[in-house]
Order: sequence, then C-alpha cells, then structure tokens
Amino acid sequence: MLGSGSNVLISDAGFPGLVIQVNIKGIKYLASNTAVVGSGESWDEFVLESINHKLSGIECLSGIPGRVGAAVVQNIGAYGQEICTTARKVRYFDLTQSQFLELSGDACLFDYRASIFKRDTSRIVASITFKLASNNASCLAYKELSSLFTGKSPSLAQVRGAVLELRKAKSMLLDPADINSRSAGCFFTNPIVDVTVFNNINSDHQEVPSWFQPDGRVKLSAGWLIEHSGFPKGHVAANRRVGLSQKHALALINLGGASAKDIYDYQKVISEAVYEHFSIQLIPEVVFVGCV
Ligand SMILES: Cc1cc2nc3c(=O)[nH]c(=O)nc-3n(C[C@H](O)[C@H](O)[C@H](O)COP(=O)(O)OP(=O)(O)OC[C@H]3O[C@@H](n4cnc5c(N)ncnc54)[C@H](O)[C@@H]3O)c2cc1C
Repeated sequence: MLGSGSNVLISDAGFPGLVIQVNIKGIKYLASNTAVVGSGESWDEFVLESINHKLSGIECLSGIPGRVGAAVVQNIGAYGQEICTTARKVRYFDLTQSQFLELSGDACLFDYRASIFKRDTSRIVASITFKLASNNASCLAYKELSSLFTGKSPSLAQVRGAVLELRKAKSMLLDPADINSRSAGCFFTNPIVDVTVFNNINSDHQEVPSWFQPDGRVKLSAGWLIEHSGFPKGHVAANRRVGLSQKHALALINLGGASAKDIYDYQKVISEAVYEHFSIQLIPEVVFVGCV
C-alpha cells in the first residue's frame, strides 16, 4: 500500500508484487465538528480546511507530508499533537475477509508512531472519522511553540503559521530548493528506554533531552544520540551521496544520486554507532519496501 511515498525507502530493485496507491477522496461533515475523510486526501490540505472551518485538534500537525490514510497508519505526531486524539473511527478493507470493516479509535491500538494498521498490513485504510473541537483555540502543549505565544491567545491560523515557520527552519517542510528537506522526515523513532538505561546515560550527560512516560520509562532524543555518536548535523558519508541534514540530525538526506542501498547502508552505520556508544537499538520510522 502506498500513500504519497514520503515515509518509505523502496529497494533499488523495486518491489516484486502489486503496489496500490490509495486515492480515495472526499471530506464529508457529519456534524459541525465531525468529518469523514477519504484516505487519499492530502493530510495538510485537510488540516488547512479544518482550520478554515475554525475546528481545532490537528493544527499543530500542519505541514506534515503525505495522505490521510498513512497519517493514521503511522499515528503522525508533532509539536504536542498526535492524530490518535482526534481519529475516532477507521473504515478499512480487510484483505483476509475481503470486506469493509470499522474500528473505533481505541481498537486501532495507537501508540507512538504505530497503530494496528502498521503492525498488520492486511488492512487497507479507506476513510477516517475525525472529531475536532469547534472552539477556534489551540491547546499549545509543546514548549517551543507555546513560548512564541506567551500571554497571547493565538488563532488556529496563527498557530499553523508558527508551526510551518518552525518546520521550515528545520527543513522539515518539503521544498525542492532546500537540499536539507530531501529526506523522509525523521528516519528513526525516539527510543523509549528503562529508567536504568536513562540513568546510566544521564550520569555522564546531564543535558540529554528526555521525557518521562506514564509507564515510568523514558523517551530519549534519537537525534541527540546520533549527534553524540559521531554524526553531527551536516555529516556527509564517505560516498558523498548521503548525509545528515544541516538542520536536523534525524533527517537522512539525498545529496544527489543516492541509491536506496546508499541510504540503507548509511542508516545502518549510524544505528550501529549509536548502539556502540549507548547500547540502544534505534528503530527506523521509515518503512523499508522490498529487499534494500
Ligand atoms: C519532510 C518530512 C517531514 C515529516 N515530518 C513528520 C512529522 O513531523 N511527524 C510525523 O509523524 N511524520 C512526519 N513525516 C513522515 C510522513 O510524512 C508520515 O509518515 C506520513 O503519514 C506518510 O504519508 P504518505 O502518504 O507519504 O505514506 P507512505 O510513505 O506512502 O506510506 C507509509 C506507510 O503507510 C502505509 N500506507 C499508506 N497508505 C495506506 C492505507 N491507505 N492503508 C494502509 N496502509 C497504508 C504504507 O504501506 C507504508 O507502510 C515527515 C516526512 C517528511 C518527508
């Protein structure tokens, strides 16, 4: 299954099978704040439309490339919001039962950049029902964003504008003129580790960015781990075809003429270096298609 291909690394040899690009369109409002959206709609266009309707809940997810279906599969998140808080129902085609079925948001087993659809690929997402809030106000949970609006009550459009600016500054907006944006976004997820692992790292590096989780574990910044394993922002591989974005150590970029194998080999070298330094296994967020 393919959305717009922004989060996949496809083998140089291609994929020996059927590829279906899901193009189901349509946005239908059931009630003033409930929208049923076809999985082939552009995610960012839906975000913009919801803001124009003065509906909140996804404005911080502005500027994320891709389609609505994959957004649910990947449980996209940014700047303090995740799609799982507004996705209330998913209609999908079940390949094993050859019929359309529905799951409630809870049954989608959303997790950090994961869902039942990511774990079990026999389900093709067809449409998603979103429940948004009709209050034209954003709940700003992320410090980098909220600090821009201290003492103010920004409109949803202003929040979107700020998010897009922040993303642009990190080359996390697709821009053909910006070589640092030639990436698949964050290549790895941020690892969530036991507190003992965190304590070990923290005793040597008090500055390690960390977020305590409700289950007592600790989320660490994969970008920080990469930078502290010998791969600073702007690092260029020996072949000079791949490297790290100058703005973001988690974005692997194609400097020109890189093959899928170049990217695959480079992420492997980075992953091994992080394991050697911190005994932490990075997990790719990018989906590998075919034998890379
Ligand atoms: C510059 C850049 C910045 C990014 N920033 C972020 C960010 O801030 N936060 C974030 O979470 N992600 C981010 N991403 C990752 C990416 O945008 C998301 O994962 C997005 O949801 C992928 O959408 P897509 O349509 O391109 O999916 P694709 O890359 O085509 O597919 C992704 C996966 O979903 C599956 N899939 C696609 N459609 C369906 C369907 N209808 N049914 C079942 N399975 C399906 C595919 O098989 C594949 O496994 C970024 C990517 C880039 C390039």
